Amino acid sequence: MIKMKEKLSIQDEVVSAYEYAKNWMGQGDLPNFIPELTHVNPNRLAVSVTDSDGNIYSAGNIKDRFTIQSISKAIALALAIEDNGLDEVLTHVDIEPCGDRFNSIYRLELMQKRPSNPFLNAGAIAVCSCIQGHDVEEKYERLHALAGKLLGNPKIEYSKTVCLCEIKTGHRNRALANMLLDNGICSGNPEEHLELYYRGCALLVTAQELSRFGAILACDGVDPCTGDEILPCSTCELIRALMAGCGLYDRTGFFNITVGIPAKSGSSGAIVGASKGRAGIGVFSPRIDGKGNSVCGIQAMKQLSHRLNLRSL
Ligand code: GLU
Repeated sequence: MIKMKEKLSIQDEVVSAYEYAKNWMGQGDLPNFIPELTHVNPNRLAVSVTDSDGNIYSAGNIKDRFTIQSISKAIALALAIEDNGLDEVLTHVDIEPCGDRFNSIYRLELMQKRPSNPFLNAGAIAVCSCIQGHDVEEKYERLHALAGKLLGNPKIEYSKTVCLCEIKTGHRNRALANMLLDNGICSGNPEEHLELYYRGCALLVTAQELSRFGAILACDGVDPCTGDEILPCSTCELIRALMAGCGLYDRTGFFNITVGIPAKSGSSGAIVGASKGRAGIGVFSPRIDGKGNSVCGIQAMKQLSHRLNLRSL
């Protein structure tokens, strides 16, 4: 295995990736399909790496919290698999990349009843419908508990403002949830599945916490900071493979070639990466490109991958 650099130089490289990525500050837009996210300060950038020994290196606005958005889809998937087993989850959602936009609906009507993968909104809503619990509160408590372990912060909270904003304005997601019910893919109350999905998307995290999550995925489920086993190895393998196939929406192929690290992005400008056996990366910068990925975040990851030998695809 190619060795990562000595501790001191890893911190230097994280700072230099931050400085490099800052050159793209100002490019891209805030996500106007979530009105509440257009009110944030766009001129922020945070970069963090957690290595496989549990050392954490960070630069930039590392205290800032932001909503995790689409990255929560990976956490919901891990919980749904823990609750039901993979075979059962696969009756609700497939695991194939498809290149569709994240909130695309046409395929469910014209081609297949089951969403193509858990990183599409439709797939994530189907996954949320499989999470066990008597009501939304209990399901959310369980999702929150797993998220707390994966992010290394049991006290994380979700933004009620962002969640309510999405419940109010997410007409397309509501259509997807109802379509899934009509297709026989979900049962129960679609409003409850949506609320659970939105609470997960609204979890407030830091780049450092994301890098810890990435490191746990990179270390096959073991938290390198504590030695605790948080997820089964098979779940991490599945999530890393899905990241490599469809983690950056319909820009994943380009990202794989330029960065080469399995990763998942969120529309808040967050990206988590998992370089197998080496490190987790968390980056955040709110302006996103036309495909929904953080402009500065991609540049920071490209630089880190190159300078720290993190390419693992
Ligand atoms: N909460 C967002 C939505 O459902 C998540 C989208 C994303 O981050 O890709 O539209």
